[in-house]
Amino acid sequence: MKIAIYPGSFDPITKGHLDILETASGMFDKVIIAVAHNSQKHGFLPVDKRVELIEKSVKNFENVKVDAFEGLTINYAHKKGATVLIRGLRAVSDFEYEMQLSQANSALAPDVKTVFLTTKPKYNFISSSTIKEIFLNNGDISKFVPEPVFEYLNNSQNLFDN
Ligand code: ADP
Repeated sequence: MKIAIYPGSFDPITKGHLDILETASGMFDKVIIAVAHNSQKHGFLPVDKRVELIEKSVKNFENVKVDAFEGLTINYAHKKGATVLIRGLRAVSDFEYEMQLSQANSALAPDVKTVFLTTKPKYNFISSSTIKEIFLNNGDISKFVPEPVFEYLNNSQNLFDN
């Protein structure tokens, strides 16, 4: 059984992430989308809310599970019996960082390989940070995020108003 981990912040999950996930779910027996919990970094949404929104957004993918983890991704991968890490590439600007990360991970855990995927062109420019910026400035994010994220953010707009 080939298990892949798709790690990231997913703060919040976007249609770009979902597109990568759809491709990955067709390539591997099981994909675990894993929200990295960084106690040093205060996110936009709490980790448990990110997990909840991902669960609602991926319920149609039978072989996809959602989880959160702390610490090194490769340790988490070993714990789950995964041999693949999925990462997405948008532009050349992602490449240098992603390359370094994958090489550091393979130096630490040669048995875990990173697979890079890209999205359909229409989702290529979408990032969680762009979405946060649009949302916080009252722009329409409906085209860029899955329905559960759109609903949650719109219904809790008052929580984010300064
Ligand atoms: P991180 O903080 O680990 O970069 P993100 O949630 O921002 O977490 O992204 C997780 C992964 O998904 C990264 O590999 C990122 O490059 C990829 N990704 C995010 N959005 C897109 C997109 N629109 N197209 C391709 N890859 C994407």
